[in-house]
Amino acid sequence: MKTKFTFILVLVLLTIIPELIFADQLSKAEKEGIQLMREEEKLAQDVYLFLYDQWGLPIFSNISYSETRHFNAVGYLLENFKISDPALPEMEKFQNKEIAFLYDSLTQKGSESLVEALKVGAFIEEFDIADLQKLLASNTDTIIEGNYQNLLRGSNNHLRAFTGQLESRGEIYNPVILDKTAFLEVAQGSHQMGGGNNSYVLQQNNCQNQQNNMPVRNRIRGKGRMRGQRGWN
Ligand code: MN
Ligand code: MN
Repeated sequence: MKTKFTFILVLVLLTIIPELIFADQLSKAEKEGIQLMREEEKLAQDVYLFLYDQWGLPIFSNISYSETRHFNAVGYLLENFKISDPALPEMEKFQNKEIAFLYDSLTQKGSESLVEALKVGAFIEEFDIADLQKLLASNTDTIIEGNYQNLLRGSNNHLRAFTGQLESRGEIYNPVILDKTAFLEVAQGSHQMGGGNNSYVLQQNNCQNQQNNMPVRNRIRGKGRMRGQRGWN
């Protein structure tokens, strides 16, 4: 009886100890937040590439490059915290059903007119800002904090860029997700430096798996998509 008890005790300890030693510092919600951001950055990148093909306006191409850097920066977090990567290697494909649905509806909407396409851009940035603010509010890790703050600065700049383009076409953008005060705070703010090129380079250098940090468009197509190059294939 005693032997049996010792045996069970040893068994239990063997199961618990590694769990305690290698205990995850992040909560499930924090991990899921990073996975969500990974696909959100891919959503932005893929939608802007689609809209650039539709309308040929440089803002879509330029911002899509910034989204690729954001996507890579979130890839760094996934690696750092050993979280599985939800991003599918194909363009326009997403594991998260809500994001997949958004991709379809936003590209459809953005095909209607250039003004609609710019509104889609502003909407995506609002969506990003709202999620980042939510994640930052419950975040406990300093690496994630710095990373999300960079993404947020980028999104604020992008939102201003899209609403600025709309304004110059006589269109006023009404926020869909953010409340009016939060939206105006961003829209009337000035350009924020740091959206993080240097920090991303640093993060990429620290990264063991370079595969994750290759620009997704290279990873997907096996060749670089040059700025100003039209067409998907
Ligand atoms: Mn972004
Ligand atoms: Mn953006």
